Amino acid sequence: MREAISGGYIAGNGHFGKRAERALEGLLHSRVLLTTSCTHALEMSAMLLDLSVGDEIIMPSFTFVSCANAFVLRGAKPVFVDVLPGSFSIDPDAVVRAITPRTRAILIVHYAGVACDMERLLAIATRHRLPIIEDNAHGLFGSYRGRPLGSFGRFATLSFHETKNIHCGEGGALVLNDPRDVPRAEIIREKGTDRAAFFRGAVDKYRWTDIGSSYVLSDLLAAFLCVQLDNRDAIQKRRREIWWRYHDELEPAAERAGWERPSIDADGDSAYHLYFLVMRSIAERDQFIAALAADNIQAVFHYQQLHRSPYAMALGLPAATCPVTDIAAERLVRLPLFNDMTVEEQTRVIRSIEAFASRRSEARVT
Ligand SMILES: *Cc1c(COP(=O)(O)O)cnc(C)c1O
Repeated sequence: MREAISGGYIAGNGHFGKRAERALEGLLHSRVLLTTSCTHALEMSAMLLDLSVGDEIIMPSFTFVSCANAFVLRGAKPVFVDVLPGSFSIDPDAVVRAITPRTRAILIVHYAGVACDMERLLAIATRHRLPIIEDNAHGLFGSYRGRPLGSFGRFATLSFHETKNIHCGEGGALVLNDPRDVPRAEIIREKGTDRAAFFRGAVDKYRWTDIGSSYVLSDLLAAFLCVQLDNRDAIQKRRREIWWRYHDELEPAAERAGWERPSIDADGDSAYHLYFLVMRSIAERDQFIAALAADNIQAVFHYQQLHRSPYAMALGLPAATCPVTDIAAERLVRLPLFNDMTVEEQTRVIRSIEAFASRRSEARVT
């Protein structure tokens, strides 16, 4: 970051931004545009699809709110479908049932960094000629049958928010897997102007040519991101270790308590974005969170059902039935997993969980 400042250029699309984009392109084999957030990359995807009022986008109800908002902002309608138990990724059968003549795209999320059922989803998308938008906020560095997550959809989006595997505080990227989208994406990212072409010398002045917004990431943040990218192997190695230690050491407690652990990814390598347990009831999940909090450990639940959200109600979207999403919203709990978590810290978390599990099984016996 000091280098960016002394180089005298900290606006977007500078030396560090290009370096981070090239690094990500090397990984994904597609064009990557850094953006100010994953939310903004999703908004860009929606603009690139040229949606009109009433167009439908199929997406999981169990996801981050930006997936829906990006399309609602364009007048389109999110159609929420359920996820699969175990992986909590979009259910391909539910996608098929939700397709109508107004469907314009399928949005998928590799929840926790584990690939969706890409074979089936790609077949559905091809059969119905629908683009896939791959929200890859959790899946960067993960793969499916040897192919990197983020390389499947017509668009993929990345998040470099502080809570993600690698980050720059706030940031994101749009991955363009169809080169035909690149020129317009550059314009949309630059406030609807052909400024990118102007800087390349391809046009002699830059003009307003399309809709767009201010989506370019500052080179200061890109410099921060470059260092994170340089350290990605060490970061991923550590996350993998933490994930597997939870999975192995919590097996007995989970079995005794009747908790579900995440399903193992049979078709690829997880990005190890998060580790979770699924409790038997919402009450037990709340007691679990409170018990860990008493030990100074922060465990948190995750997405609340979008199909039950106040804004979905306000929009008057048709009622959806998503029983697995309801389970995930009510009973899933995420365990602490961060890049610089120490072995001792993880031991403390595991002991606290084991103590909670044995208190509960004793209570059941008496
Ligand atoms: C974090 C996250 C986002 C939003 O990312 P921002 O960069 O904060 O906009 C979107 N989708 C998913 C699945 C996420 O986890």
